[in-house]
Amino acid sequence: MFNKLIVGILQYMPESLVWIFSKRYIAGKTREDAFRVTRELNQQGIKVSLDLLGEFTTRRENIDYYKSEYIKTIFEAAYKKQDVSISVKPTMFGLLLDKEMCYNNLRDIILEAVSCNYFVQIDMEDSQCTDAEIALFNRLYREFPDRVGFVFQAYMRRTLDDIQKLAEMHPQKDLGSIRICKGIYVEPEEIAYKGKQEIRDHFLNDLEYMFQRNIFAAIATHDRKLVEGAYRLIEKYKVLVDRFEFQMLFGVTPGLRQSIVKKGYAMRVYVPFGKDWYNYCTRRLKENPFVMWHLIKALVVRN
Ligand SMILES: Cc1cc2nc3c(=O)[nH]c(=O)nc-3n(C[C@H](O)[C@H](O)[C@H](O)COP(=O)(O)OP(=O)(O)OC[C@H]3O[C@@H](n4cnc5c(N)ncnc54)[C@H](O)[C@@H]3O)c2cc1C
Repeated sequence: MFNKLIVGILQYMPESLVWIFSKRYIAGKTREDAFRVTRELNQQGIKVSLDLLGEFTTRRENIDYYKSEYIKTIFEAAYKKQDVSISVKPTMFGLLLDKEMCYNNLRDIILEAVSCNYFVQIDMEDSQCTDAEIALFNRLYREFPDRVGFVFQAYMRRTLDDIQKLAEMHPQKDLGSIRICKGIYVEPEEIAYKGKQEIRDHFLNDLEYMFQRNIFAAIATHDRKLVEGAYRLIEKYKVLVDRFEFQMLFGVTPGLRQSIVKKGYAMRVYVPFGKDWYNYCTRRLKENPFVMWHLIKALVVRN
């Protein structure tokens, strides 16, 4: 019912109105916008993960465009000496069309990142992609162990098992960087936890396992309870500051972000940009209308 209402409203919302909601969360439409935001964050001692907007495409011309944009972005960010990593969504590079093509496209992007001394994190998308994305990561990780990281979603029932399998598959290595987040997509109950607290509990269990195995953890959340839970685990395991970082989305909970930075912990902000901002925002809202509540809340409350 609520979903239908949101979809109905969105159809009549002009782009300019959607932009009012979205501009706090997106650097802008161009690479220059992303570099400007990165410069500002880097000046505050905050690292960035650059994310070109676009996903779930099966059109070759789009795939070619995204690839060339990423390569230009990496090259220019390095020229500007920006402190960034790169986030990529495999469905932008053809995962749903041809897995081998997707692998080759991501490999080219990683090669460019390697030549510029940058790190690439492969985002996790919806459950139709989970197996293929884990396989893709395994393959790329074998080739570029210091340059590629991955993401797991705490709401997926399979996640702890997946992280354990990965750690066992690469026992001598530290798995680059593994981002743990709650998960953004709406998944069926058979495969995903639904309760707010049970997702939090699994998030912290996953994180605890990573600390026990000395896996570099990227703790991606704006949930104060999870941040406090992460602090407790860091204390419990005496985790060295260079074995984890916090990650947040651009524009979300800047107050909480600042408090983490003040503690002396590394912070990386995920900065989305690109001409596909409108499709991305409306798709996210249609998919998960609760994002709308975050947006409305964020317009009136600063947290
Ligand atoms: C760096 C980073 C990378 C991510 N990568 C992935 C990924 O690869 N795959 C994936 O499935 N998910 C990804 N996510 C999204 C993640 O899974 C969650 O959906 C999202 O972070 C919200 O969960 P939360 O832990 O912040 O808790 P919540 O309880 O959802 O949020 C806590 C508070 O943060 C604020 N907030 C949270 N999200 C938003 C928002 N979008 N807009 C405005 N305010 C907000 C609200 O004030 C909210 O009350 C990523 C998140 C981050 C921070």
